Amino acid sequence: MNCPYCGYHDSKVIDSRSVNDGIRRRRQCLSCGSRFTTYERLQPASLFVIKKDERREEFNRNKLLSGIRKACEKRPLPTGTVDKLADDIEAGLFHLGKAEIPSTVIGDMVMERLRNLDYIAYIRFASVYREFTDITVLKQEVDTLLSGHRETLHPTTQLPLLPGEELVKTAKTRRMSQKKRRAN
Ligand SMILES: [Zn+2]
Repeated sequence: MNCPYCGYHDSKVIDSRSVNDGIRRRRQCLSCGSRFTTYERLQPASLFVIKKDERREEFNRNKLLSGIRKACEKRPLPTGTVDKLADDIEAGLFHLGKAEIPSTVIGDMVMERLRNLDYIAYIRFASVYREFTDITVLKQEVDTLLSGHRETLHPTTQLPLLPGEELVKTAKTRRMSQKKRRAN
């Protein structure tokens, strides 16, 4: 790994620690003294995806990443969220320990995580993945989200679904605000 600042070919490791499925190394260039970080990951055995038409295709992290990235485009998500999501899914897939995995399993994993993260991204992804062909199916999906999102989803991580809506409140504060409304 050459130094990203001066291009020198050698560096020393000043710190290393395990992260997720890899090792993070903090390095210092032996020429210019700049510090930078490298990650070392185990290259897992090949994993093949079974497509809808039964064709097999080698799992491609970049493809997964670009699908998630498209769905999350311009959403107010913290930097690194998309990569972390792809990492989680990739790790989950390899953790299954199978040589082949249906594309639907991957799609469902993405859907589940996006649903807990951001509804707009979820709907965007779902519309491609589930191939929404008409507005009725899309409406059904949104209705399901609207009717369920206050009760079942992660209130602290969810971004507003409706324009002007504040972050989803916890059940307790919601009950309190309902009481207040009734009192008025
Ligand atoms: Zn350097």
